[in-house]
Amino acid sequence: MTELPTPAESVSAVLATARETLTTAGVTDPAVDATLLLAHVLGASRGDIQLKETLSHTLSDADLAAYDAVIARRAAREPLQHITGTAPFRYLELLVGPGVFVPRPETEIVAQYAIDALWAVAAPEPIAVDLGTGSGAIALAMATEVPHARVVAVERSAAAHGWAAKNVTRVGATNLELRRGDFAHALDDLAGTVAVIASNPPYVPADAIPRDLEVRLHDPKEALYSGADGLDDIRIISGVGLRLGYPGSSIVLEHGEWQGAEIREILTADGWQSAATHQDLTMRDRVTTA
Ligand code: SAM
Ligand code: GLN
Repeated sequence: MTELPTPAESVSAVLATARETLTTAGVTDPAVDATLLLAHVLGASRGDIQLKETLSHTLSDADLAAYDAVIARRAAREPLQHITGTAPFRYLELLVGPGVFVPRPETEIVAQYAIDALWAVAAPEPIAVDLGTGSGAIALAMATEVPHARVVAVERSAAAHGWAAKNVTRVGATNLELRRGDFAHALDDLAGTVAVIASNPPYVPADAIPRDLEVRLHDPKEALYSGADGLDDIRIISGVGLRLGYPGSSIVLEHGEWQGAEIREILTADGWQSAATHQDLTMRDRVTTA
């Protein structure tokens, strides 16, 4: 005889409990995360979960236990992307985990400016660089969306470099070269040849405490902090970009919403022209190009 499903095991009841747990824990998007984590546990899509909810499906004891475990991790503010092991970035799904900065939606806009600048170059094989590539996000977007470009990415952290290497292999980007080293000098052999210099460098001031626990507890410190005013790396990158580039090259930098004016000053003082700051989808100044 088949047992009637108890309401506690129904997908909708399980999701409601998870949403409540995540809300209490202060998670920003409890409903989205509850659904995505159930999809992850069941190996299903987000749409499948909605369907299961509508059709009053129930969960097996094993799936329920697995779901409780991931909800507990998320409630402890482990990033969603560390639990699922992946982060979406433009057309890509990148592998991420401990030791690498989780790519953010706003960085997709940095990639867009870099891609547009690359497409505008007349050379048959324009060169682009990504300084501090982390998971490889910006570099892989440039390499896949501008297939005739040659992209060189550099990362100093061994852990992050390992994640980037996995992602380059996974995506199969043969026009991307990944290097391990300090962006101040790792690309010196490319002096005078680079059309587009892109970077989402560390830009958080030394005394700032990230508001989100996920960032504070799980993003590597060396991915976030950059001296007293947060601009130490951008000062270095401005100079590196001038050495790597040639007249007419472009630089595309992500930064904090309060840093646009100072960055335009740094770039202009160094000799870059036409510095301009652009907004993200929430109308905050987040990208400066020159
Ligand atoms: N570009 C990735 C993204 O947007 O998701 C990662 C950005 S994260 C904010 C900055 C990255 O720069 C980190 O992975 C950090 O390890 C790396 N980094 C910091 N200083 C560096 C340096 N001097 N040379 C090379 N990489 C550096
Ligand atoms: N935007 C990041 C944050 O959430 C900071 C990233 C950076 O320094 N590049 O704090």
